[in-house]
Amino acid sequence: MTLVAVPIEVEEPNEVASALEDANLAKVGGADLVEFRVDVLAEHPEGVSAARQLVRESPLPVVLTCRSEAEGGSWRGEETDRVSFLEAVGTDDLAPQFLDFEEAVWSRSANIRQKVRLVVAHDQQVRPDRSRLVLSKHDFDGRPTDLTSRVAAMAVDADVVKVAWTARSLRDCLEAFEMPRLLGVPTVALCMGPFGLPSRVLAPKFGGFLTFAALDAASATAPGQPTLSELIHQYRFRSIDSNTEVYGVAGWPVEHSKSPAFHNQIFSEQQRNAVYLPLPVAPDATAFVATLESWLAHPGLDLRGLSVTLPHKETLASFVQECGGCCDEAVELSGAANTLRVDDSGNLHASNTDVLAIEEALAARIDLQGQSALVLGAGGVARAATAALLRLGAQVRVMNRTSARAEQLASSFGTSVEVVTTPGEVSAVVQCTSVGMSGGPDPKGTPIDPAILPRDAVLLETVYEPVMTPLREAFATSGGQTIGGLEMFQRQAAAQCRLWTGREPGPAALAVLDDS
Ligand code: NAP
Repeated sequence: MTLVAVPIEVEEPNEVASALEDANLAKVGGADLVEFRVDVLAEHPEGVSAARQLVRESPLPVVLTCRSEAEGGSWRGEETDRVSFLEAVGTDDLAPQFLDFEEAVWSRSANIRQKVRLVVAHDQQVRPDRSRLVLSKHDFDGRPTDLTSRVAAMAVDADVVKVAWTARSLRDCLEAFEMPRLLGVPTVALCMGPFGLPSRVLAPKFGGFLTFAALDAASATAPGQPTLSELIHQYRFRSIDSNTEVYGVAGWPVEHSKSPAFHNQIFSEQQRNAVYLPLPVAPDATAFVATLESWLAHPGLDLRGLSVTLPHKETLASFVQECGGCCDEAVELSGAANTLRVDDSGNLHASNTDVLAIEEALAARIDLQGQSALVLGAGGVARAATAALLRLGAQVRVMNRTSARAEQLASSFGTSVEVVTTPGEVSAVVQCTSVGMSGGPDPKGTPIDPAILPRDAVLLETVYEPVMTPLREAFATSGGQTIGGLEMFQRQAAAQCRLWTGREPGPAALAVLDDS
C-alpha cells in the first residue's frame, strides 16, 4: 500500500498546538503520516523541545524534516548543527518514524554520515525505537543529469529513497513510475510542477512507497502537490492499483478543466477501476505526438482514453490516421478529434464528440434539413459546428473576423460551405468565436451585432463561461431561442463517457458540470 503523507510547516514553538490540530485533520482526512517541516523551528532556542512535543503528541506517524535552502527549504545553519538538532529530538524512546536527510550532504561528508547513523537505525544497529532514514534529493530546476547513478547510490544506504524533480513534460513521469521497481527499496519518486501530477496520483500503480498531499491548497510544500481531499476523493487514491486504467484531458492549458471532476465521478459511480487526470501538453504538435507515443508505449501505464482540447485536436486526428487507427465520420469530416479511445487490443479510435454535441443540441430543437445556418468564427469549434450542420443537412455560411481563415475552412469542406460577411436569412446560428468568454479577448463584447440576426433563428452559443454571454443575453432578451455552451459541453462529455464505458453518465456527474 502506498502511504499518504501530509506536510505541515512549523516555524515557532507557539505554532505546535495548531500543527497538531492540522495533524488531526490530516488523520481524519485519510492521511497515513504527517511530515513536520521544522526548517525554521530548528534554529529556535526552544526548537528541540517543540519538535519533541510534535513527535510525542502527533496522532499519526511522523516524518521529521529539516530542509536546507539548497533543496527548497529554509534551514540556513551549519550541517553539524542540523544533525545535532535531529539527534536531540530523537533521543531515548522518542523517535520520529522517519527522518529525512538530504543525499547531497550525506554523500559529501563521512563525518555527517557517522553522526546521522547514530540517530537512525542501520544495519549494524537495528533498534525498533530508532528512526528509519529517508535519503532525499530535490531539484527545482529540472531533472538532475546524474539522477540514475545518484538514486542507485542512495538505495545502498537509505531505508527509503526520495527523489523529486521538476518535470519538463509529462514524459518525465514515466521515469518516476519506473524507479520503485528498478531500485528495489522503498522509493518515493515524484515529479514537481504542472506536469508532475501523474507521478503523485499514480504512485500506487507503480509501487511507490508514499506520496504527499497538502491539507489545503495554501499549505502545499512543493509545486503541483494535490490536496488531500483531491487525492482521496476526486482521484480515489485508495482504489488505485496496478490494474487501474488511466484517462485524462490533454491540452494547454487544462488546469481549470471541469473534465477531471466529471469523469472521475462517473468512474466512481460505475465502480470502474479507472482514474482521469489533467494532462498538460505544451502547445506544439511535436510535443503532443512525443508525449502520446511515449505514454501509449509504456507497458504498465494502461492509457485507455483521452479528452483532447486546444490546441491538439487536429494533431490527434492526424496522429491516429498515421498510426493506422480508426477515425469516426465526424473526425473525417471536421479534420479534428477531441476523443481518443484505446481498445483492449491497443488499437486507437479517434472521435469528435463536439460535432455530436452540436448536432444533438440543434436536432433537439429544429429540423435543419435544407435550411441555411450560420457559423460565427473559423477556429476549431467552428470546424466542428460546420461538420455538425452539414450532417444535419443544412447549407452552411461561415463568417469570421479574418476572412482568409473562413475561406480556408470553407475550402476544406468543399463547395457546400459559403463565406459571408452578413448573415442573411438563416434558421440557426452557431457562435464559435471566443468573444464573450470570461478571460478571453473581449469578454464584454459580441462577435456580431445581435440586431442583424433573424429573430426566429435558434442561437447555439458555444462559450460556457459565463453561461450567459452578452450575445446570448441580447438575443434571448429580444425573444430568440438560445442554447448555452454548457449544454454542448455536457453533451460532448456524456458522449465520451459512452465511448469509454458504454454507459450514460449518472445525474451526479452531470451535476458536477452544472455546479462548477
Ligand atoms: P480558436 O480556434 O482559437 O478560434 C477562435 C475564433 O474566435 C476565431 O474564429 C477568431 O477569429 C475568433 N475571435 C477571437 N477573438 C475575436 C475578436 N476579438 N473578435 C472577433 N472574433 C474573434 O478557438 P476554438 O477552439 O474554436 O474555441 C472557440 C470558443 O469555443 C472558445 O472560446 C470556447 O469558449 C468555446 N468552446 C466551447 C466548448 C463546449 O463544449 N461548449 C468546447 C470547446 C470550445 P480570427 O480567426 O479572426 O482570429
